[in-house]
Amino acid sequence: MSETVKIARTVHDLRKIVAKWRGRGHSISLVPTMGALHAGHIALVKLAKKKAGRAVVSIFVNPTQFAANEDLSRYPRDEPGDLKKLAAADADLVWAPTVEEMYPEGFSTSVRAGSAAKDLEGSFRPQHFDGVATVCAKLFNQVTPDIAIFGEKDFQQLAVLRQMVRDLDMPLKLIGMPTKRDTDGLALSSRNAYLSVADRKIAPALYAAISALAQDVANGADIPTGISTAKRKLTSAGFGKIDYVEVRDAETLEPVPNSSGRPMRVLAAAWLGKTRLIDNVAV
Ligand code: AMP
Repeated sequence: MSETVKIARTVHDLRKIVAKWRGRGHSISLVPTMGALHAGHIALVKLAKKKAGRAVVSIFVNPTQFAANEDLSRYPRDEPGDLKKLAAADADLVWAPTVEEMYPEGFSTSVRAGSAAKDLEGSFRPQHFDGVATVCAKLFNQVTPDIAIFGEKDFQQLAVLRQMVRDLDMPLKLIGMPTKRDTDGLALSSRNAYLSVADRKIAPALYAAISALAQDVANGADIPTGISTAKRKLTSAGFGKIDYVEVRDAETLEPVPNSSGRPMRVLAAAWLGKTRLIDNVAV
């Protein structure tokens, strides 16, 4: 375990470091993050260390994936804390560009996310996945990793990025990591920092409701009835607006009948006060 971790802040410096590693025959893994790191992120970093000779962690709060009414300006940031955690996790390099370095004057090309982006989060955050796809395409071109590691916490994001890598023949492998949770079931998230003490107590009801729904669906329950029950549970627990609770094909994210026999996933997004929580579980 080292005390400090190396940081690159320009594409030029990043490329120099990566070229040196390549020259020595190292493989490279990448963990893209927006910082405010928690144990879920660190689990991805540990996997990145196992999977490649050198592990790069990017920290970049990407403005293009936030809509004008979203939480970009108040998104939690703690670079000193993040660097300490990444040194302790033995990350080999932190790639932390400024917004100007990522999107210099005149930047105007973007990736349009594919069909996996079309509803669920895509319905409530219309430009979100184009922003995610574009910044990840840039990160992949900048770092040139053999492997990139993402959390299943953002299940639709993982599906959108798998589709992008496949459709655009990007030469890397994506790995999904199961969601890390608090002891009461709440999925770890940088946005949990927004929750009031009272809302933090209510928040695990999201995981409880979707887990019960997944269990019911596995036992053959009618999907629309199960979804209504889950929504009722969220409302009585104290959640405000429920953006969606859905049961989908785990690969295509298309709606499926319970009789399909294909792997399914329960996905949900709901508001607690001013905080929007998302979560998902396998059926
Ligand atoms: P973020 O910083 O929220 O953009 O997340 C960076 C990466 O960490 C994404 O691939 C997320 O899916 C992943 N991640 C976030 N929370 C968790 C968690 N609780 N467990 C596992 N991975 C996570």
